[in-house]
Amino acid sequence: MKLISTRGQAPAASLSEALRNGAAPDGGLYMPDVLPSADFADVDPQAPLGEFAAQLLQPFFAGDALEAELPAICAEAFDFPVPLVTPHPGEPRLQALELFHGPTGAFKDFGARFLMGCFDRLGVDQPLTVLVATSGDTGGAVGCAAEGRSAVRAVILFPKGRVSPFQERQLTCWGDNVLAVEVDGDFDDCQRLVKSAFANAPLSAEHRLTSANSINFGRLLPQLAYSARAALQVRAATGETPGFVIPSGNLGQGFALLLARALGLPIGPIVLATNANRTLKDWHDSGRYEARASVATLANAMDVGNPSNFERLSQLGVQPGDVRVELVTDAEIERRIKADYEASGYVWCPHSATTVEAWCRLSEAERNERPWIAAATAHPYKFAEIVEPLIGREVAPTPALAAILDRPTRKIRIGADLNALAEALSEQEAAA
Ligand SMILES: *Cc1c(COP(=O)(O)O)cnc(C)c1O
Repeated sequence: MKLISTRGQAPAASLSEALRNGAAPDGGLYMPDVLPSADFADVDPQAPLGEFAAQLLQPFFAGDALEAELPAICAEAFDFPVPLVTPHPGEPRLQALELFHGPTGAFKDFGARFLMGCFDRLGVDQPLTVLVATSGDTGGAVGCAAEGRSAVRAVILFPKGRVSPFQERQLTCWGDNVLAVEVDGDFDDCQRLVKSAFANAPLSAEHRLTSANSINFGRLLPQLAYSARAALQVRAATGETPGFVIPSGNLGQGFALLLARALGLPIGPIVLATNANRTLKDWHDSGRYEARASVATLANAMDVGNPSNFERLSQLGVQPGDVRVELVTDAEIERRIKADYEASGYVWCPHSATTVEAWCRLSEAERNERPWIAAATAHPYKFAEIVEPLIGREVAPTPALAAILDRPTRKIRIGADLNALAEALSEQEAAA
């Protein structure tokens, strides 16, 4: 398989090259030139995710320098459980796919661990600098996955005052090869800075920049794998094709799911839940895509006004009618968390709450016509200051999250300006 840029002005790349480059040199995003044809009938959805992913993703790695390493990369990256649970005893047609049992409590652990495992095995002679913009969860996952690896340094940009207290701790607590940079601006400013650093060829070459945001195709492959596994598991158990409801920000998970469906996996209707950032909803309703400034919401990892993976959706030929988009306001997020806790004791994080809210908006016939999988993308402890007052009790951290509280933290602060970022990159290069 070769990967080509969505903008058509960059040479085709092998998978390893695409992972190494992050974005394509013409500023576009890498996409498979042709979708690999794979026979999923042989892949056992009951196998542990590491084994399942290695089998499912094999056609993407066929002929690539990393092909032989794929089983080890998957086994190492996916060593935590990914349960499907029934959050409402009275609603057996709805299952939550809990994606938050990794070391930083959000589904970004899948992509970050997989990608760092790939970087580690690319055989580079000088460490790559992984430059990421984070709206909250990516940075922590990347920092954790990069810590202690000799083949990578990580520089993580996060918007000042826009991440939760625990998220900030989790962005700033990793070892010497991970630098957290607080940016005076919002997530879109961080994302713009990262894009301009990549577009600056001398800067990018000097620091051997690469990306672990979902512009990197390697971030999406694990999401493809767990979505496929959940779909095949539900189909094996029920004989039916499940629909998916997922929270959407930069559209990484959304794209991975659409790709999985395009590959022929048993995936029915796809409902994308957003917070008050309405770019996707407006595209869905009007057919026109118009980037907007992001607005801050309770589901901050989805505060994106210009979802970068939209470019990939267009390339895949996705039309507004191929998905459903539901916009969920902060007030609705709060009501959903409270109501579901009172009804069943299940605690959603604000992002996951958008998905159940979107599911509740389906008609009764739609909800009952098939099984549905709702992605639960973060552990509620990460958003304790939002969730606890709504449910009237404390949320306990997982042991992995509790361990983060004991670590020392370190960050530097810059304006939303490329020169300031270039300076930070040089300092990091000199220090680690
Ligand atoms: C990143 C994130 C999302 C949004 O995912 P995208 O792939 O960017 O659309 C949703 N929920 C949580 C908890 C996240 O961290």
